[in-house]
Amino acid sequence: MDEQVLLSRARDSDVRLVRFLYCDNGGIIRGKATHLSVLADRLVSGIGLTVAMQAMTSVDRLASVQGLGPVGEIRLVPDPETFVVLPYAPHCAAMLVDMHTLDGEPWGACPRSFLKRMIVRARELGFSARVGFDPEWSLAVPDGNSWMPIDRSLCFSGLGMTSAEEVIDAIVGALEGQGLAISQYYPELGHGQQELSLHHADALHAADHHILYRETIRAVARQHGLVASFAPKPWPDQAGNGCHVHLSLWDESGTHNLFYDPAGRYQLSALGYQFLAGVLEHLPGLLALTCPSVNSYRRLQPQMWSSAFTCYGPDNREASVRIVSPYRGHEAATVHLELKPADNSANPYLAVGGVLAAGLDGIRRALTPPEGQLALVDPATIPETERAARGIRPLPATLGQAADALERDPVLIEALGPLLASAYLAVRRAEAAYFADVDPAREYQEHFEKY
Ligand code: GLU
Ligand code: MG
Repeated sequence: MDEQVLLSRARDSDVRLVRFLYCDNGGIIRGKATHLSVLADRLVSGIGLTVAMQAMTSVDRLASVQGLGPVGEIRLVPDPETFVVLPYAPHCAAMLVDMHTLDGEPWGACPRSFLKRMIVRARELGFSARVGFDPEWSLAVPDGNSWMPIDRSLCFSGLGMTSAEEVIDAIVGALEGQGLAISQYYPELGHGQQELSLHHADALHAADHHILYRETIRAVARQHGLVASFAPKPWPDQAGNGCHVHLSLWDESGTHNLFYDPAGRYQLSALGYQFLAGVLEHLPGLLALTCPSVNSYRRLQPQMWSSAFTCYGPDNREASVRIVSPYRGHEAATVHLELKPADNSANPYLAVGGVLAAGLDGIRRALTPPEGQLALVDPATIPETERAARGIRPLPATLGQAADALERDPVLIEALGPLLASAYLAVRRAEAAYFADVDPAREYQEHFEKY
């Protein structure tokens, strides 16, 4: 958006503060706001931020990262295309930012710049990525020091729709007010659990929209006296909150879905299988980016429809990668892959960038997914010895294991770059160490509050 258009839109909408938002290495959305009177300058120069913030954990303690301490500064530089007036916050607008060095270059620890690099990598191979998320979250009411689900409604039930209808209506209105296109809504399996998806978009916009989405859901719920939590496992006895990543590669102009081949098995093209093979091969390390909190590993259990094993299958919701059945008459546009082990404690720029890095590696090396990892049934029902023989391995069981796998994955580490990789690993390991000394009830509570 042109700078003058943006400024007059802000003035016409009576905006006073513009929030410059980013998502950090702990998956927390943070930012600083600028006043309208200095917005014109800030659009160019950005807002200053200490470099230490990319070493900050989700418990507001600094992890130890070389160079990311009390000395040093970067700039949060907003992307004018992302300017949006916030319908739920009086006189406020928001913009998503890139982190720049003082010289105006993308900073090595900037997650949004990492995703942009992966998008360029895809483009150099002639691809554009189409991405959608399936965010699940829990609606709760305060109950002393804790929270209780708003209802005990059944999966996809009309009564569930009824019990949440006012807040859902307000949320839909607030999302529409930001120009975010909504795809579908339903009450999910867990008590108080909701699922509301936005339309797919190109990779960068999908990640930007997910940030605005998370902000909107939490804010509007709060206005209704409720708490919305994106924690991967909100309560020990309820379904987990996933945020499955749907992805397909298209040609550069975005006209042809390159994952579609009418003659391919399940109508997935050879290119789609190569991408899938790359994701499967890198899955243990990728998990540190897509399921990156301590609480994530409470969700990833067998027979919870979140996936717990490295395998793939057509419409198999217990497989880590589902080959999604196309809609009849729209096959060419709708064949795609869905990554199940992904949740809302992830930084969406890192999660999508990581999936792209993994999949593109599969394409570059022309990998084929192992036939043994094709699962046509729930993998938990396959005897353990057979699973082992077929290469259907359990996913990492803890954040620490996933972080170790990421560190051992040269492709993902190279894609992240040295500063982002070291900062990210340090932050997530510091969180794992912090929660190792905390009792489980408090661990649940902290994740419930922060995501
Ligand atoms: N709640 C499940 C999860 O943790 C997903 C259920 C579904 O939508 O298939 O991912
Ligand atoms: Mg769901």
